[in-house]
Amino acid sequence: MIPVANVHGRKVAVLGLARSGLAAARALAAGGAEVLAWDDGDAVRAAAAAEGLTLADLSRPGAFDGVAALIVSPGIPHLYPVPNPHVAAALAAGVPVDNDVGLFFRSLGDPAWAAMDSPPRVVAVTGSNGKSTVTALIAHLLAQAGRQVQMAGNIGRGVLDLDPPEEGAVIVLELSSYQLELARALTPDVAVFTNLTPDHLDRHGGMGGYFAAKRRLFAEGGPDRAVIGVDEPEGRFLAGQMAEAAEDMRVIRVSSGQKLGGPGWSVFARRGHLAEWRQGRQVAAVDLRGLRGLPGAHNHQNACAAWAAVRALGLGPRDIAAGLASFEALPHRGRTIADKRGVRFVDDSKATNADSAAHALQAFERIRWIAGGRAKEGGIAALAPHFDRVRKAYLIGESAGVFAAQMGATPHDLCGTMAEAVARAAAEAEPGDVILLAPAAASFDQYPDFEARGRDFAACVAALPD
Ligand code: ADP
Repeated sequence: MIPVANVHGRKVAVLGLARSGLAAARALAAGGAEVLAWDDGDAVRAAAAAEGLTLADLSRPGAFDGVAALIVSPGIPHLYPVPNPHVAAALAAGVPVDNDVGLFFRSLGDPAWAAMDSPPRVVAVTGSNGKSTVTALIAHLLAQAGRQVQMAGNIGRGVLDLDPPEEGAVIVLELSSYQLELARALTPDVAVFTNLTPDHLDRHGGMGGYFAAKRRLFAEGGPDRAVIGVDEPEGRFLAGQMAEAAEDMRVIRVSSGQKLGGPGWSVFARRGHLAEWRQGRQVAAVDLRGLRGLPGAHNHQNACAAWAAVRALGLGPRDIAAGLASFEALPHRGRTIADKRGVRFVDDSKATNADSAAHALQAFERIRWIAGGRAKEGGIAALAPHFDRVRKAYLIGESAGVFAAQMGATPHDLCGTMAEAVARAAAEAEPGDVILLAPAAASFDQYPDFEARGRDFAACVAALPD
C-alpha cells in the first residue's frame, strides 16, 4: 500500500466504496487521515463497515464541514450528464474533489529517491483502444528485461494498493478518461496516448470533453517523454502541442500504417514491420508478423506504443524483440488458446461490436468464424469487405438469423450454441485454418458477460480430441 501523504489528522471523505474506493480509504487511514466513507448502495456500505471503515452519510446538512477533500470513484459522474449530488454538495462547500490517482501521484515520491542512481519511474497509458494491451505489454517487456515492475489502475491493482517501489522499479498504470479528468495531480515520467475514437461522450459532454480529459495526462505534469499515436487529428494536435520543435525528442510519434520520418523520434508499423526512426535515420526494426500474442494491425499499433515507452526507459531493441515474441495476448482479446491438428483457436470474445470484429478478421486468413449473440445496430453489414478471409461462418445466439442474411454468398451455418459451432468448425477445419471467436455482438443473450462467453469457447475447444 502507498500511504497518502499530507493528510495526517485531516478529515477526508471517500465516495464510492468498490475496489478503488476501498483502497483509497485504507491508504488515507494509513496516512493518518480521519476517513468518512460513503456509498449510496446499502450492500456496498455494509461490506465497507464490516471492514472497519467509519461511514458518514454525505447527504446530511453540513456533511462537508471541516472536510479537506472528497475522493470520488471513477464510475460516479462529477459533471456530465448531471453531477452526482454529493459531488455537487462538496463543490458548493468549496471542498476540493480528487480521486485515488491524484492521491497516488502526490504520495508516491520519497526523499530517499534523491540519492538513488535510478529512482522509480511511472509510465501511464491512456487512449480509446488498446490501453490494457499496451499496459500489459509494457509491463511484460520490462519484466522480461529484468526490471522490477508493477501494474495498476484499470488493470491489476488499485493505484494506492501498490507496494512502495524500490530503486530501478517501474510502475505501469492504465488510466481511463474518467480517472484522468478528476485527478488533481498527474505526473508520470512517461505518458502514452494510444489513439482516439468516440466513447463515453455522455460523461464528457462530447468529443471535445473526452479528448480534453485524456490530454490532462500530458498537460498537468509535463512528462519527460510523451508517446503519442498520431493516426487521428487529435493525436497529431497533441504531439504538436507537446513538442517545442519538430526535432524535440521528448515526443515520440507512433503510427500504424503511415511512415513517419522527420527530424524527431518516431516508431511506426507498416506491412507488418516495426521501424524506429530518430533524427531522420532508422535505428531499429523488427518483423511483427509472426507474433502470436499481437495479431493484426491494431496490435501492431499497440506494439509500437509499447516499444516507444520502453525505449524511453532505456531498453535495447534486442531485449524488446525477445519480449514481444513471448507476450501472450490478454484473455479474450485475440488470445490463441489452443493448436490442434494444425488448426489454431483464437478467443477474441471482447470483440462485441463490428469495429472490433473487423480488427480480428483483418488479423488472420483462412478463418472459420464463430460470430453472433445480441446484435448491435447494423449487425455485421460493415464487415462485408473482410468476408474474403472467411472460409465459413458458424453463427450462434439471438442474432444468427440476421447475421446469416448479411453473410450473403459467404458460406455459413446456423449453429445456435457455442458447443455446436466449435464442434462443426473443428470437424470441417483443415491444417492452417484459424477458428476465431469474434462475435461482433454482445454476449448477454446467452452469457452473463464476454468473459463467460470466452471461457465457454475455451471449454468447448478443450473437449475436442487433440
Ligand atoms: P482497452 O483497455 O482500451 O479497452 P484492450 O487492450 O483491452 O483495450 O483491447 C480491447 C479490444 O479493443 C481488443 O479486443 C480489440 O478488439 C480492440 N483493440 C485493441 N487494440 C486496439 C487498437 N490499437 N486500435 C483499435 N482497436 C484496438
